[in-house]
Amino acid sequence: MEQRVVEFLKDRESEMVEVLKGLVEIESPSHDKEAVDQVGAQVQKLYKKYVGGSIEVFPNKDFGDHFRCEFGDGDEQILILAHMDTVWPKGTLEELPFRIDGDKLYGPGSFDMKGGIVQGLFALHALKSLNVPMKTKVVMLFTSDEEIGSESSRDLIEAEAKKSKFVLVLESAAASTKGKLKTSRKGVGMFTIKVKGKAAHSGIEPEKGISAIEELAHQTLYLHGLTDFEKGTTLNIGLIKGGSASNVVAAEAEAELDLRVKNTAEFQRVIPLIEGLTPSMEGVTIEVTGGINRPVMEKTPEISKMFETAKELAKEYLGFDLEEQASGGGSDGSFASQFAPTLDGLGPVGDGAHASNEHLLISKMPVRSALVALLIEKLANE
Ligand SMILES: [Zn+2]
Repeated sequence: MEQRVVEFLKDRESEMVEVLKGLVEIESPSHDKEAVDQVGAQVQKLYKKYVGGSIEVFPNKDFGDHFRCEFGDGDEQILILAHMDTVWPKGTLEELPFRIDGDKLYGPGSFDMKGGIVQGLFALHALKSLNVPMKTKVVMLFTSDEEIGSESSRDLIEAEAKKSKFVLVLESAAASTKGKLKTSRKGVGMFTIKVKGKAAHSGIEPEKGISAIEELAHQTLYLHGLTDFEKGTTLNIGLIKGGSASNVVAAEAEAELDLRVKNTAEFQRVIPLIEGLTPSMEGVTIEVTGGINRPVMEKTPEISKMFETAKELAKEYLGFDLEEQASGGGSDGSFASQFAPTLDGLGPVGDGAHASNEHLLISKMPVRSALVALLIEKLANE
């Protein structure tokens, strides 16, 4: 069975490229509902053509509709996560068109993660076409807002993860030609810090002013000082604004803080420090809003076991050493992993997520697709 799955998919490499071209050429920035819905319609068409089974759509007012596809039967389910949105605004295709250069396939969203969608669909296509027996059903959940924090899909992802034995995430692999899986992800916190001081003319009566910018500068140094690289905890104020003119003592200033941690204990240690910021200057007020944006995906023994299973399959049937990596970024796998063992980064092999050199390796498409198919079969019949 395994060899047949591998052969089946290797024979479909050029078809996979063709299908991916179709998806890349429909641009789908997260904030553009109509655009993401267009990709959604195309994915549903592909699902019907290559897999078949029921599709349930979850209408979404502000962002693209999410939908859930069910394949096979069984009381238990394996969940596959994929997102259809990209970080690229409309019009990007004109500057960065879909193109192939040797083994590299370029295009906005190819690597993150339309290539993963195609590989996932073809994995199920192979299992179905070859009538591979499965004791567990497979649910593929396609969502529309991963790149902007999954606000509208989070409940759905968590509800499906709760019902699942295992979760596979078709996000791109860690950037390199090795295609390393992601077995842990840092937790992400996002905060806004607003400082209010008092305006005054900087020449005539500067002593009457209280500079919100000066206060924010103190707070920035303090917050950055909480960074502990050894623990994997980082704090970064990446955006700052404030003041009204150079000759006015700034009445207001605001900063955006990004917090990353390797474990939940660090969230518990650092968040109270952020929320409890105390002014260093008299007369200012500080308001902190925000919180955890993605929980930590910790590498549990169950995740290790899943990874070992994938590694064995890669070695035995695909002839390569599968490796793993910890990721500093969050994904929908971060949410799912709170409820079921989750393996992430099963999507394309390539580089340049969110960058102009975004690409995937064509020759790895059937290989990754086969890895997903074999993994599903193994986990479904465990
Ligand atoms: Zn992604």
